[in-house]
This record gives sequence, C-alpha cells and structure tokens, in this order.
Amino acid sequence: MIFRQLFDPASSTYTYLLGDAAGGNAVILDPVREQAGRDIALVRELGLRLAWIVETHVHADHVTGALALKRATGARTAVSQHCGATGFDLMFDHEYHLEFGGESLRAIATPGHTPGSSSFLWQDRLLSGDTLLIGGCGRTDFQQGDAASLYDSITKRLFTLPDDTLVYPGHDYNGRHVSTIAEERNTNPRLAGVSRAQFIEIMKNLNLPMPARMAEAVPANLRGGGH
Ligand code: FE
Repeated sequence: MIFRQLFDPASSTYTYLLGDAAGGNAVILDPVREQAGRDIALVRELGLRLAWIVETHVHADHVTGALALKRATGARTAVSQHCGATGFDLMFDHEYHLEFGGESLRAIATPGHTPGSSSFLWQDRLLSGDTLLIGGCGRTDFQQGDAASLYDSITKRLFTLPDDTLVYPGHDYNGRHVSTIAEERNTNPRLAGVSRAQFIEIMKNLNLPMPARMAEAVPANLRGGGH
C-alpha cells in the first residue's frame, strides 16, 4: 500500500495520494493547484502512474490542481455527478468503484456540505472530504449546503462503518491528521449526542466568514480546474 497525506498550508487542505504498490497505479484526491508541482514530483519519485484525479466535491477555498496534473500525467479526472460540474472525464454516483490497478476506491455519496460531496473508502480508511472533519464537519451555509442532509450522511453512511476505520479528512485547522469512526462518533462536538434538530441549529449559527478565494475557486472548480 502506498499512502501519502499532503498538506496545503494556505487553504489547510489535505491531498491524498493512494498507490497500488504491485502495479504502480495511483489515485490523487483533492489536489491543490499551487501544489501541483510538488504532487507531480512525488508521483514520479515513487514511480507511480497516475490513473485518476478525484475530487471529493467542488471546493470553495482553493482551485483544484486537477487540470495541471492531468496535463502532466494524462490521468483522468472524476467528480460526483451531483456536483453540477463539467469538464471531468468521469461523473460517478453512490457506490461507484473506481478501479486502479488491483485496487478499488469506493465512493460513498455524502451530500450536505455540497450536493455532490462524496467520501471514499479504501482498505482500512475513509477519505471523508469536507463531510466529516476531525472534531467538526463541513459548513452548510453556501453552495446549496444542507445541514439535514449532512447529518444523515454522517450518521447513516459514515458512523455505521466499523469503529476502527481510519478517518482522513479534507481539511484540518488544528494540526490533526487522522482520527477513527469510533472517536468521531463518541467525541465530535457537532455530532456526539446531538439530535438532527440540534445539529441543524448548530449549523445555522456558525457565522463563519466566506472563504477568501470563493469567487475565483467555485467557477474554476465547476470546470474541472479550468478558467
Ligand atoms: Fe469544501
């Protein structure tokens, strides 16, 4: 197994590189445009062939590195068909299995942060995008976010996974890298012992500022990272 967690400090985004050690095929999840050079160098250094570039959703806080990586490696791009995005090679749905070499990445539709938000299960780990964060969750106050859907996605589709499933989020703002399903189910302050109605109330009152690069990032990401 090849697994790398990469970080973009400007947007606090985690990018993940997953590789099939035997065949050398790889998938990159949520690359950031400014880090494309780093990511391409790492793929080459590890001797991998990038098969897929996958987005967990249309991001509002950074422009995807998908286009730069696609140009450099020939990999195909993928995003949920519920994102309203264009210019991607594959638009997947719930339970789609993205094959790379002998490996399979299972898409789990987890709408809420955005309608097309997806999480991915690979071996013993969940790549949870902005659906489930460590001690938090994605916001639902723009991009057709919906707190009720997010609650259902997390509690019915993610918290029902095995306790020791590792949780690798799409962002972290507190220096945390990984968690588990049991840890989040038991201690996440937005969710542990919180009813659906209480969660909707919490999400309504977060009063977060808009992401600085939203006006640039959303239109570019809806076109697969192009302008
Ligand atoms: Fe997001």
